[in-house]
Amino acid sequence: MDILAVEEKHTCGTYAKQPVVIVRGEGACLYDEDGNEYLDCSSGHGVANLGHAHPKVAEAIARQAHTLLTLFETFPNDQRAALMEKFAALLPGMERVFFCNSGTEAVEAAIKFARLSTGRTGIVAAMRGFHGRSMGALSATWNKAYREPFLPLVPEFSHVPYNNGDALEKAVGGGTAAVILEAVQGEGGVYPAAPGYLKEAQRICRAAGALLILDEVQTGFCRSGKMFACQHDDVTPDLLCCAKSLAGGVPMGAVLLGPAVKNLTPGVHGSTFGGNPLACAAALAALAVMQEEKLAEQAAEKGAYLMEKLGAIRSPLVREVRGMGLMIGIELKQKVTPYLKALQEKRIIALNAGLTVIRLLPPLVITYRQLDRLAATLDEVLAGEPGGE
Ligand SMILES: *Cc1c(COP(=O)(O)O)cnc(C)c1O
Repeated sequence: MDILAVEEKHTCGTYAKQPVVIVRGEGACLYDEDGNEYLDCSSGHGVANLGHAHPKVAEAIARQAHTLLTLFETFPNDQRAALMEKFAALLPGMERVFFCNSGTEAVEAAIKFARLSTGRTGIVAAMRGFHGRSMGALSATWNKAYREPFLPLVPEFSHVPYNNGDALEKAVGGGTAAVILEAVQGEGGVYPAAPGYLKEAQRICRAAGALLILDEVQTGFCRSGKMFACQHDDVTPDLLCCAKSLAGGVPMGAVLLGPAVKNLTPGVHGSTFGGNPLACAAALAALAVMQEEKLAEQAAEKGAYLMEKLGAIRSPLVREVRGMGLMIGIELKQKVTPYLKALQEKRIIALNAGLTVIRLLPPLVITYRQLDRLAATLDEVLAGEPGGE
């Protein structure tokens, strides 16, 4: 079977297919159908923080699959209760949780909960922000290319420049239900929050009676060098959205809720698959691995190591290298597509963030030798022949 041809024939069309058929993963590597090894510096868009096919997650999934896969959240369950207790211990003051199945669903729930809690309807988001593609989350997303085909979106969303406290203060008022921000803007170009910005956002929200939603779908679960990126700034939001690597690769999303979130009564929101025992068992195993293998510390140390190596690359193409932990953006002075292609030919998979940023989101278990290979290959690829499109 020509797998690529079959997919190209039957795809709905919303994904540009890569010319590589991946059939297996292990640690930081992916393998194609001929057994060629690729260093995965995308982690499946930030999902595989623990690496691919982590044995402890695989074992938990297999065990739970033989025990109980599905159970609506009205019935309590041992795996879900254990996960709830674990979550409640992650961030002081965030003791309740809503479970769903993806990042966009977590954002969607947070928006609805902010409206219910405040009785207000306005949502202030940031320029360059990305929060997902369902209609509510898309209304908070900034990129025109994602939004415009679907106008009109949900009313009363506005966007302010990121990392600008004054602009945020002006935009937030008596009609604002919530401010939604990423702790590091991922898709928008890998822009970390300036020190103090999230604290300022929290102060502005409190003063106006609005809630602060942090979207940690990409930054959460050790990626930034802490369990959650908001911990770098010592900020606890009112609602914290997470998904991606939460359950070690099994689809799962969650919203952690602080005390200001209220009026959540039976029936106002829900999800058929939310909090299913399979995803909960996988998440429990994933959280245990994060703690046992100290993945947050690993991300901080490896991120600093990689940043130093990338900073030493002397290339006229590079405008800036920035990031947090193992979430790193290399901004070029031109489009990144030819360089991503060149990396892939050298068997390194990386992502873009917008047109001009190479985004690196390697599994946090990546080895120092693999980091050396990544840096050396980037040095080679960015050596200077102007690529152009
Ligand atoms: C990926 C992402 C989302 C959307 O998550 P999906 O699971 O693809 O719906 C939302 N917010 C941020 C910050 C993301 O990186």
